[in-house]
Amino acid sequence: MDLPVDEWKSYVLQKWSLLPKSIQVTISTAETLSDIFLHSSSLLQPEDEMFLKRLSRGYLVGKDPSAPLFYREEGNRKFQKRDYMGATVLYSKGVSYSRPNSEDISLCYANRSAALFHLGQYETCLKDIVRAQTHGYPERLQPKLLLRKAECLVTLGRPHEASQTISDLESNFAAKPTLAASQFQILQRTLCRLKVKVQEKENLTETSPAALTKAFEDMDLREENEQISSTSSSVSLCTDPLKGRYLVATKDILPGELLVKEDAFVSVLNPGEMPLWHHGLESKWDTRATNGDLYCHRCLKHTLAPVPCDGCSYAKYCSQECLQQAWDLYHSIECSLGGLLLTLGVFCHIALRSTLLARFEEAGRVINKLCGEITNRDICLPESKNLAQILSYDLGGESKKKGKTVETPIPGCDINGKYENNYNAVFSLLPHTGNHSPVHKFLCALSVSALCRQLEAASLQAFTTGLKSSKLKAAAAPVLYPELKIWGVAMLRHMLQLQCNAQAITTIQQTGSEENLITDSRQVRLATGLFPVISLLNHSCSPNTSVSFISTVATVRASQQIKKGQEILHCYGPHESRMGVAERRQKLRSQYFFDCNCPPCEREKQRPSQGPRREAFCCHRCRALLQGDDVLSCGSTSCTESVSRDHLVSELQDLQQQVGMARKLLRNGELERAIQLLLGCRHDAESFLLAEHSMVGEIEDDLAQAYAALGDWEKSAAHLQKSLRVVEVRHGPTSVEMGHELFKLAQVFFNGFAIPEALNTVQQAEKVLLVHYGPWNDEIQELQKMKSCLLDLPPIPVGPNE
Ligand SMILES: [Zn+2]
Ligand SMILES: [Zn+2]
Ligand SMILES: [Zn+2]
Ligand SMILES: [Zn+2]
Repeated sequence: MDLPVDEWKSYVLQKWSLLPKSIQVTISTAETLSDIFLHSSSLLQPEDEMFLKRLSRGYLVGKDPSAPLFYREEGNRKFQKRDYMGATVLYSKGVSYSRPNSEDISLCYANRSAALFHLGQYETCLKDIVRAQTHGYPERLQPKLLLRKAECLVTLGRPHEASQTISDLESNFAAKPTLAASQFQILQRTLCRLKVKVQEKENLTETSPAALTKAFEDMDLREENEQISSTSSSVSLCTDPLKGRYLVATKDILPGELLVKEDAFVSVLNPGEMPLWHHGLESKWDTRATNGDLYCHRCLKHTLAPVPCDGCSYAKYCSQECLQQAWDLYHSIECSLGGLLLTLGVFCHIALRSTLLARFEEAGRVINKLCGEITNRDICLPESKNLAQILSYDLGGESKKKGKTVETPIPGCDINGKYENNYNAVFSLLPHTGNHSPVHKFLCALSVSALCRQLEAASLQAFTTGLKSSKLKAAAAPVLYPELKIWGVAMLRHMLQLQCNAQAITTIQQTGSEENLITDSRQVRLATGLFPVISLLNHSCSPNTSVSFISTVATVRASQQIKKGQEILHCYGPHESRMGVAERRQKLRSQYFFDCNCPPCEREKQRPSQGPRREAFCCHRCRALLQGDDVLSCGSTSCTESVSRDHLVSELQDLQQQVGMARKLLRNGELERAIQLLLGCRHDAESFLLAEHSMVGEIEDDLAQAYAALGDWEKSAAHLQKSLRVVEVRHGPTSVEMGHELFKLAQVFFNGFAIPEALNTVQQAEKVLLVHYGPWNDEIQELQKMKSCLLDLPPIPVGPNE
């Protein structure tokens, strides 16, 4: 997803292997990005572009009048089955393929408003009714829509507006004597009912929960750092020839303290699996929902009722405001390139969007300096000191860094030494040009070249033919095209930077069906972005911070106490609780080009044979730890058991298979059978796995799910408590994983009305999750709701300690 699609990758790979040796050497040994770009770009042939165009056409990204009817009918089918959520998604798809101001789009919006009404989403329903009307909803169908509007307004406690809508409706009837008598009667009866409701609600006051706005206010840093934007004054920026840039604590920091709150400089939604259409397929249209259908392409907010771009079917937004912002900032140029950008991958898309966003900054300056690099790389203007320094990394590798750090400011900072979330800082992130393989650089350079050619063609077309929309014309004016080569070099730099600097923007998605009363939460990757301040943090396999996201804003909180002078560390992915030392080191080396020396790595390196206890086997006789390599023997002095590792590993595989089968039964609702199988699995597991083994924890967790589905809260809680102990050993008592597990347990107690236990667990869960997420996290909000609900219950048996 980050890199181009496989077909293009293997095409470029083959092209590379057929290049004359001399050209391969020229590209491999090129010292600057501009040399790499110019050499590769000159090799891009028209047939390569044709191949790429064919691939791009596989993505259905344009408007298509044959789609709306299909999606509307599919949606109606779901609607009749009362699957209003499913119907909403399908109507949304219909909306995005419809042309603006057509009957198609107005009907899709109107149908979606009906589904939203049944989902209780009244505000959104009202918006869709307005959208249906502005896109030309047919006059003959108006009464139905007005009636829904009135119902919404009544439910929302807005009686004055409801009365107005009702009188509109009445005059509408009067003007239409053609309405069938039966229809007329139904409408009149509904009207009467509504009028009564309006009177009932007349005295109610309006409330509008602006939770998200509040979330941002509460997230504010107590005291902002003067040296680094978006950062608390408890940290400062340092630099070191070996480590590069990093952040340290300037005072003692407590767990949960907010250290960085940074909006992404740029972010691109990961579209999810977009099906590639080819002629062999039966239906052109896909009814599955992907991330691209459910989240705003600008602010990443979850949205049930997106509004699509007027020009394409793939860019969708939570609101007209987001649509407009995206258009002004970048989408006016990206709109016609949808298929190509999906083919070339998210990194290439971010590279383009970064340079587009740079237009609004001191881009002229940055780009001119790049210009200097291309025409005469020795030119070094006085005010471009730090940029010249950055460029010199490219020229001579990173060894030149030494000795320069004293006289020049820290890379990415402005003349006054301030580091900000801006293009200058993004540009200063290291591309590690020397570390990437030649063929990877060739792939990136060729992809960027192809994108540049398309941009050129699109701008020419926009310029000569002149588009109908004046908006389009203004935005597509080719401000950047005279310097397209320079933009190409900048984009190549971004593509190479992203391998080490891309930050996954994640969200917690609730899984599990509605019947399943305990929800399981799962972290999913929503988008990829560049955060220049967060990029200053170095990696540790056991970090002292936690990163979370609301919309495109990342927050970094201390996950433990950090003493004054200690480095602020963040995990790039390979965490000690999820991966063994060998796997972590291999991953960090190949993706990030460094060897990790964090304390867990050093510790585990010294005694590599002794894996963590969570993956250990135990003696089936005395349950002591088994030790050894190929043949394991019992650690207890009074026991002589020994067993081969192969035997244990195959036993574990059998167990995994059994658990897999049990999960399938669980998903199909065959709860009793699932429980029988899981109990058997647990029995087997106990005979050769330590009680802290992750497999044991997973079995207990599955049992808890199964009993919860049966409504047996006591058994569910008992199993969940066992799984909790495994999570505690594995991830630690204050880990975010522990928080999620406690959240589940709180739900079980809550649903089982075990009031003291529920209150106690809610508090524990809250305490752990607050440190990692701060107060406006969804789970925290839900815990607080549970708590106030429990405390409001009539007389509860309260223990003496409470
Ligand atoms: Zn939005
Ligand atoms: Zn568009
Ligand atoms: Zn490490
Ligand atoms: Zn033994």
